[in-house]
Amino acid sequence: MARNIVWHPFTQHATDPQPLPITRGKGAWLETEDNRRVLDAISSWWVVTHGHRHPAIVAAIHDQIDKLDQVIFAGFTHEPAERLAEMLIDIAPPGLAHVFYSDSGSTAVEVALKMALGYWRNIGQPRTRIAALEHGYHGDTIGTMSAGARGVFNAAYEPLLFDVVRIPFPHPGREQETLDALNAAGRDGTLAAFIVEPLILGAGGMLIYGAGTLAEMKRICERHGVLFIADEVMTGWGRTGTPFACEQARITPDILCLAKGLTGGSLPLAATLATSRIFEAHFSKDRTRTFFHSSSFTANPVCCAAARANLGIWASEPVHDRIARLAELQKGALASLASDARFENPRQIGTIAAIDLKVPDGGYLASIGPALRTHFLTRGVLLRPLGNTIYVMPPYCTTAGDLALVYEAISSAPDALAE
Ligand SMILES: *Cc1c(COP(=O)(O)O)cnc(C)c1O
Repeated sequence: MARNIVWHPFTQHATDPQPLPITRGKGAWLETEDNRRVLDAISSWWVVTHGHRHPAIVAAIHDQIDKLDQVIFAGFTHEPAERLAEMLIDIAPPGLAHVFYSDSGSTAVEVALKMALGYWRNIGQPRTRIAALEHGYHGDTIGTMSAGARGVFNAAYEPLLFDVVRIPFPHPGREQETLDALNAAGRDGTLAAFIVEPLILGAGGMLIYGAGTLAEMKRICERHGVLFIADEVMTGWGRTGTPFACEQARITPDILCLAKGLTGGSLPLAATLATSRIFEAHFSKDRTRTFFHSSSFTANPVCCAAARANLGIWASEPVHDRIARLAELQKGALASLASDARFENPRQIGTIAAIDLKVPDGGYLASIGPALRTHFLTRGVLLRPLGNTIYVMPPYCTTAGDLALVYEAISSAPDALAE
């Protein structure tokens, strides 16, 4: 029995295969220690946008590390963080005015929740309840797990999780139930904030809903004074076809959470953007109104330099065209699977495509994930299905030929599993 010193995430070391050693990455491809190539069809857990080791990002990292590696961010500041904040405000939905840095999607969401509660306390109207969408995922820390869907992944920690008002997912044709539930929850004046993944719920199973519903949810929150938190940790940076998913609903959230693709997926960095209303509520001669949050590496200069380079790529390269092209390729490839009776529920938004493998029973479901992952790897493709949901979320440099490999691996999966 292998005993790993390194304890890997979401890994059952007793049954999962040994982790695959990777030595290099370039564009959409990874290289293993034994010189095999693996196509990174999930962007290394949704973070890599332009491809591994984009030259502009690599150069920015080299350049910054030679000047300043790290500095305390309370009482001190630096150009990479200041300039990045301006660039983020420029590209984000209009009305967001302040940028708070942290270092992961989970911390970006924790910061958002704390900002929301701080807002209400500081304006003397303490509201503390949070509403969230059914099947939502916001991270793996105690607060973000509380906001996210409950299940086997967090059963052990349930006693520590706080209660949230759960709003039903807006299934196609049943959107009104969602809106009614949100309206009812907002009406009693105790909701501090509603947190939502705009347009697509990622870890909850790549569940897509419409921009009209998103816009309506925002309107309901406004009506009841409930702060609207958009968790764009996954949807940000072009995944849904636009830089941010909120744009498609023409809404500006009160608080916006960004991470994953913020540095193009090269280094860990997160940002929580807030409107001036949230900032002003914390702006006071009364020191008890300070926003009490920090982490050691808040706004690390090298990470900020990488993020600036990412925004530079958005400004100077045809990223929008690449996204549109990839979305078209995904659409075509998915259509070829849609007529395959072994699959169901093909769905797509922007560069993300998903389809469900029909499975006979739940017991099979429990073991299907590792078997699928192994099958895909033998085909040289990194895919990591969510239960029986197979999704493809590649970097924007993925070619038609690359994508063909991915979909061949998917269409051959049912037969390979049956063997
Ligand atoms: C991945 C994800 C998070 C958590 O981000 P980490 O960087 O893994 O902490 C939060 N929200 C959403 C929507 C995500 O997809």
